[in-house]
Amino acid sequence: MLTASQNRGAESVAALARESYRDISLYSTPRGRVDIDLSDNTNLWGTPPAALRALAAAGQDDIARYPIAYEPALSSALASYVGVSPDMIACGCGSDDVLDSAIRAFAEPGEVLCVPDPSFSMIPVFARTNGLTPVSIPLTRSRDVDVDAILETDARIIYLCSPNNPTGGAIARTTVERIVENARGLVIIDQAYVEFGGESYVDLASSGRPVLITRTMSKAFGLAGLRVGYGIGSPELIGEVLKARGPYKVNALAERAAIAALKNDRVWVDDRINEVIANGSRFRSELMQGGFASLESSANFVLVPVDDCAAVSRRLERAGIRVRALPQLAGIGDAIRIAIGPWEMMQQCIDALVTAT
Ligand code: PMP
Repeated sequence: MLTASQNRGAESVAALARESYRDISLYSTPRGRVDIDLSDNTNLWGTPPAALRALAAAGQDDIARYPIAYEPALSSALASYVGVSPDMIACGCGSDDVLDSAIRAFAEPGEVLCVPDPSFSMIPVFARTNGLTPVSIPLTRSRDVDVDAILETDARIIYLCSPNNPTGGAIARTTVERIVENARGLVIIDQAYVEFGGESYVDLASSGRPVLITRTMSKAFGLAGLRVGYGIGSPELIGEVLKARGPYKVNALAERAAIAALKNDRVWVDDRINEVIANGSRFRSELMQGGFASLESSANFVLVPVDDCAAVSRRLERAGIRVRALPQLAGIGDAIRIAIGPWEMMQQCIDALVTAT
């Protein structure tokens, strides 16, 4: 039982905490193992071999000492992978960290961040934890971003996601360019899934407009547990992101493994990407035969509208398969999001889905 003084302490924490954080809750992920986890869009074949070897070879100096601040070796490896100069790269503890830092770097508290709806669910949270007001603009009936409505918000930061999580849709170049040309402030283009489809917008980082492309090694590169993401932008813009981010956000082991993957695992990664693309279209057409229409996807996941996503995902979980339940998505309703992996997993998912509904 708490003493009176401990109770007073608890009250004062609630009173002292930022008021604007009051209704922000911690991100929750499902716990406990399942046979097949298709819920987080990671690489379902696992980790590429050179990255694993690099981790096994890590020594004292990687652990006892600090890494070099702002990870220049990783930035160089990413720069050659992307085809830009190293001063156009800002790494982070996942692309989450780069997004969060960029939001902090390019808007003062009280300003507006505009985000299409549905899109990456963490963006309104990052906006609010940085004191910004998130404004959601629903996708159009054809599930495109609504350019006019987005520009009308006059937002200090406009966030776009292509291919988009959770719909899987890629944004057309003409649309992105219109937004970039007319935006009042920073445009972020989140390309966490770009290896699987959709256009690269890296050229826009050198367009003279304030554009930040964010990407990750959590998806195609199979390194989600190491938390390595990066942003691509003009050197001036990258400097501001790094200022907001701070030093030492990528740990030395993650840096080592990520560099090894970029240098030596490209064939392994490309082979997996090709399998995702082939399995994704087969999965969608077999789902269709099973009575499930899914949204076209340029990513490594497929969104399937269902009547009751909580009930469907519970039944799938009982069959050993975890998917992401997404209740009441704007313009779509309930849906489940299913990551694409080796065909045996996809077949089991289809079998379970047909009997679960
Ligand atoms: N952007 C999008 C669209 C995502 O779906 C995710 C992860 N789910 C992220 C960014 C963050 O990925 P990470 O921090 O692992 O790079």
